[in-house]
Amino acid sequence: LKEIAFAGRSNVGKSSLLNLLTKRRNLARVSGNPGKTRTINFYLINDEFRIVDLPGYGYAKVSKSVSQNWGDMMEMYLAGRENLVKVVQLVDIRHAPSKQDVEMYEYLKYYGLDGLVVATKADKISRNQTMKHIKIIRQTLKLSSEDKVIPVSALKKTGYQELLDELESVLGE
Ligand code: GDP
Repeated sequence: LKEIAFAGRSNVGKSSLLNLLTKRRNLARVSGNPGKTRTINFYLINDEFRIVDLPGYGYAKVSKSVSQNWGDMMEMYLAGRENLVKVVQLVDIRHAPSKQDVEMYEYLKYYGLDGLVVATKADKISRNQTMKHIKIIRQTLKLSSEDKVIPVSALKKTGYQELLDELESVLGE
């Protein structure tokens, strides 16, 4: 079964987005305890593919050993994960991506899992500011023109259909 993972710093809105994506589908949670534990959770969607909820990174107060564990866990997960076809990178639409976001995206590039970014909490900026913010995200993450940035609001339930369409096209490749 193919897998699509979701990555982002903690508080970016990943749980809210995954709730939105999975609630509208025939969801079976395969393992885990979303939002509560810092482990990798899997959701089976329509018996078609798995969504992988990667633990949020970037806790300001975590010790070095904790972030080291996070890196080790990611390394173990990503290396040789043959069914993993994409990692959706989540960034808050309001802010330029952090250094850790940039590092994460570099990491995804290295593994060939990059190319799809979701700008979360799109309702927090006015519509006529969206393009400006997306441009900053594109520049900071050094995206190429083929890379996609999809603004989504889990609160207003906007943008997720476009995201689902994109996931389907990724799975169909
Ligand atoms: P996670 O730590 O990445 O899983 O983030 P959560 O989904 O728990 O969200 C973190 C905070 O952001 C919560 O207070 C959410 O209510 C809020 N949040 C998440 N998505 C949205 C959104 O689309 N719009 C707004 N305005 N707030 C959001």
